[in-house]
Amino acid sequence: MNSAPLASTSLIPESFTRVESKLDGITVYAPPPRVEQIPQAQNFKCPNCGATTAFDPRAGSVTCTNCGSHYAIHAQRVGQNANQFEFTLDVVNSTPRGWGSTRRDLHCENCGATTSVAPTELATTCPFCGSNRVAARTAVPEAFQPRYIIPFKIERAECAARARAWLQRGWFYPRDLVNVAYSAQFTGIYLSFWTFHAVVNTQWRAQVGYERRENYFDVHDMKFKTRTVIDWRWEQGTIAVPFENQLDTATSHIPAPLLERLEPFDLDALVTYNPAYLAGWRAQTYEISLNDAWDAARARMREHARTQAFNQIDSKHVRNFSVNAAFDDEAWRLLLLPVFLTTYRYRDKIYQLVINGQTGKVAGDKPIAWLQVWLLVAALVVPGILVAGVGLIFARNGALFLAGGILVVLGALIAVAILQRVMKASAA
Ligand SMILES: [Zn+2]
Ligand SMILES: [Zn+2]
Repeated sequence: MNSAPLASTSLIPESFTRVESKLDGITVYAPPPRVEQIPQAQNFKCPNCGATTAFDPRAGSVTCTNCGSHYAIHAQRVGQNANQFEFTLDVVNSTPRGWGSTRRDLHCENCGATTSVAPTELATTCPFCGSNRVAARTAVPEAFQPRYIIPFKIERAECAARARAWLQRGWFYPRDLVNVAYSAQFTGIYLSFWTFHAVVNTQWRAQVGYERRENYFDVHDMKFKTRTVIDWRWEQGTIAVPFENQLDTATSHIPAPLLERLEPFDLDALVTYNPAYLAGWRAQTYEISLNDAWDAARARMREHARTQAFNQIDSKHVRNFSVNAAFDDEAWRLLLLPVFLTTYRYRDKIYQLVINGQTGKVAGDKPIAWLQVWLLVAALVVPGILVAGVGLIFARNGALFLAGGILVVLGALIAVAILQRVMKASAA
């Protein structure tokens, strides 16, 4: 039997190629194999050559490290309005577990952090503390699967330059600090974050005082005077305070304030989770449980709602203020956000440096060059002391002594301002 081709050649797009047909006499044409959906395969081997693939931030697709083929990732862009999940047993039970792909766990014996790596990655260091006392384990898929992810936008190759620029900023840091950027190893890792949604319906009650001027007769002075008195009234009110899209870190191996300095992340870039984004990259599942994170978030929301309610009161005299907060529409999300981590050693101390994998913003700890700081403080204060000293002892000159005193005070004020900045920088 000799049947006609499935489609006349003129209708077939030019880029389509003839592929092997499973049916006798039927000619099959297919789009080029370079861009196709990653199958639900559990590992990310290149369908073209069998080599390892990795998610490529620049291309936004999975790329073969050997033949360069690109494979599009099918994920839906959901942005800020990504679905939220209720706190019900049903939702918890039906939430998928694990990463949805074959991965290995790397456990650090130094800091206790567990990092998820691609099965082919020969990982030897912990990205959180830099230790090489790590042991591989088979991943146990019991944790919730993240529902949404912001894919990496920044490439690893850009990290050193960004870190260098950041290390050079400010004058009270050691000058040779910038050298650590040349040897730093940056690890791209998706970190877990919770976001919570709630409306806090807040009822408040307080005694509010209103000032009133009143005339009275002063028997001592035998004349009329005015004075301010406060009239107290019980008042109450309600305010609904909404909370949305605040990030709550789910890792306990990077201080929360350090991660906060990486914000903002642009949540408009959120897409539905697809394990292909993790190909070739590390990830960390949440270490802070949904319950613990929600408890902390709720306490923070209650405090914020209390402040909002207090601010409703249009008087500076308030007493017996009390609030009753009821939570409504509570919902949660589990996200993966892209971060580069590195640790560097400076004079036998380890410092953490983090880079936002979406925006390139850098944050971290820096050693302070205290000698530089104290020399500057001395340079600010000493001249005034000298001038005042000369004025007092040698010249018995009051004007010179006064000028010296003013110089000391000015220098000290500037020195204190500088010290405050340094303290803030060293604590941040
Ligand atoms: Zn390939
Ligand atoms: Zn570690």
